[in-house]
Amino acid sequence: MRLPTLRRDVVCQQAVELVTDYLEGRLSRRDARQFEAHLRACDGCEEYLRQVKATITVLGSVQPDDLAPETRQGLLELYRQFRGE
Ligand SMILES: [Zn+2]
Repeated sequence: MRLPTLRRDVVCQQAVELVTDYLEGRLSRRDARQFEAHLRACDGCEEYLRQVKATITVLGSVQPDDLAPETRQGLLELYRQFRGE
């Protein structure tokens, strides 16, 4: 299956959604590589990953349920600020 060319915003949105899966090793090797390739090209997402990692350091680990909606929202807002939105 061939995916249509996605706008950068959509790719970033997907990267954000993949961060926790990536950190927990749930992505396939191929997805992880694509994710890493995006991070190298995108400062906003790289910084977002840094923030999530910092959160994990504080909490010990992040399970989907541990990441409270407010935390998630806060990170997303932080992320938007980095992107200047
Ligand atoms: Zn991005």
